[in-house]
Amino acid sequence: MSISTAPSELHELSVSALAQALRERKLSALEATEHFLARMRQHQDLAAFLAVDEDASRAQARRADARLAGGSTAPLEGVPLAHKDIFVTRDFPTTAGSRMLAGYRSPFDATVVHKLAEAGAVTLGKLNCDEFAMGSANENSAVPPVGFDAPRPVQNPWDRARVPGGSSGGSAAAVAARLVPGATGTDTGGSIRQPAGFCGITGIKPTYGRASRYGMVAFASSLDQAGPLARTAEDCALLLSAMCGPDPDRDSTALDRPAEDFGRQLGASLDGLRIGLPREFFADGLAPGVRAAIDGTLKEYEKLGARLVPISLPRTELAIPVYYIIAPAEASSNLSRFDGVKFGHRAKDYTDLMDMYKKTRAEGFGDEVKRRIMIGTYVLSHGYYDAYYLQAQKIRRMIADDFQQAFQECDLIAGPVAPSVAWKIGEHGNDPLADYLADIFTLPGSLAGLPGMSVPAGFGEHGMPVGLQLIGNYFQEARLLNAAHRLQQATDFHLRSPAGF
Ligand code: GLN
Repeated sequence: MSISTAPSELHELSVSALAQALRERKLSALEATEHFLARMRQHQDLAAFLAVDEDASRAQARRADARLAGGSTAPLEGVPLAHKDIFVTRDFPTTAGSRMLAGYRSPFDATVVHKLAEAGAVTLGKLNCDEFAMGSANENSAVPPVGFDAPRPVQNPWDRARVPGGSSGGSAAAVAARLVPGATGTDTGGSIRQPAGFCGITGIKPTYGRASRYGMVAFASSLDQAGPLARTAEDCALLLSAMCGPDPDRDSTALDRPAEDFGRQLGASLDGLRIGLPREFFADGLAPGVRAAIDGTLKEYEKLGARLVPISLPRTELAIPVYYIIAPAEASSNLSRFDGVKFGHRAKDYTDLMDMYKKTRAEGFGDEVKRRIMIGTYVLSHGYYDAYYLQAQKIRRMIADDFQQAFQECDLIAGPVAPSVAWKIGEHGNDPLADYLADIFTLPGSLAGLPGMSVPAGFGEHGMPVGLQLIGNYFQEARLLNAAHRLQQATDFHLRSPAGF
């Protein structure tokens, strides 16, 4: 893309083009920040942000400008980004979408936030998300977005009556609407891939353990993983490279592997690449428009020299019950820290300690969070542990083994991110199962800890974006990103903007 510094087009620049323009001093970090802050103000009705502090962003931008003046070549120097409100930040409040954390301000930055800042990034604000990242539509946020005094759903920029996906719905909507050039998200069971797919942008969840979870408000610790959302695979590579790396003093589950340049394979030939198509991902429940879009991109891959191989992931359906036992079990344990003593909300009127705990948690948590705490407590309780939790763990292992079996026959796995396009706000009503079932294609990779991404694959029902999911074996992020990049050189879905943005 040619670099234009005309302010009206700044938001069309990719992260890498912006970084280059900043390094070449064609624009200042402060100019870039002002431009995106103005767009965020203009499109406040999307409800994408839970916190902004324009002066804090400007101060960060001025510091980046001083470093640029000193000749800094940091990869993201001066580039404005925004963070899902599940990452704790010193300069902005953090709520994780929950009343429980209303007014909370962390004394430190999450490792991922810190690493991006070290790479030069400026923070534009905190992005809306489902409460404690529990959800598939961003309809579970309990915090009023910037500009509103009551909670409301994030809108999908492609059709404001539809959900942006979840739980990183604010991140995906803001990137798709060009309010930010890139954003962070977290993916426990699909929360980067699915909203990226629903909003027509690119997102990657790396191998479990690649990015530190320190300062990421915990949902299900054996699954939670951070990753970027941006418009292109190239940008995701740039952002992911800055986000990952060991964090030995703070997160023992962060892998002891050095940071990598995930863009190092970009442009490599796909000749002979074996792309596995799991039979179970193309079954009857798949919306015809989604299927047609996915088939179209698979044809592109064949033109690029890849070979399509039929494979099977026989336990795909079991991923839903297994995930919805393990994730709530871990959540019920993680959320016990919100007791009104250490963090955030505390009930005003109570008689004794037990009463304070009860009222604080009854007032602070939303319905979906309470549902998960109850399910999690149940499956972990004496007498049910063996029947549910232990059984789920065994099947989790089998699901991971199924992938290893499949990777004997293919190099990458491809399929849809979700069985349908984004649904209407309110369409699933009070039926949490409808949301859970829509996670079917993202959960298996999450349970196995594999890297996965969503790549724009065209449009399906109602003209809504469709995401192609690519799943790689452990540590194959660079290969995944190159496969996405090659598709993006052959297609222009990732460059299309929703009308009005
Ligand atoms: N939709 C899934 C859930 O509600 C996944 C959420 C996530 O990845 N954070 O748990």
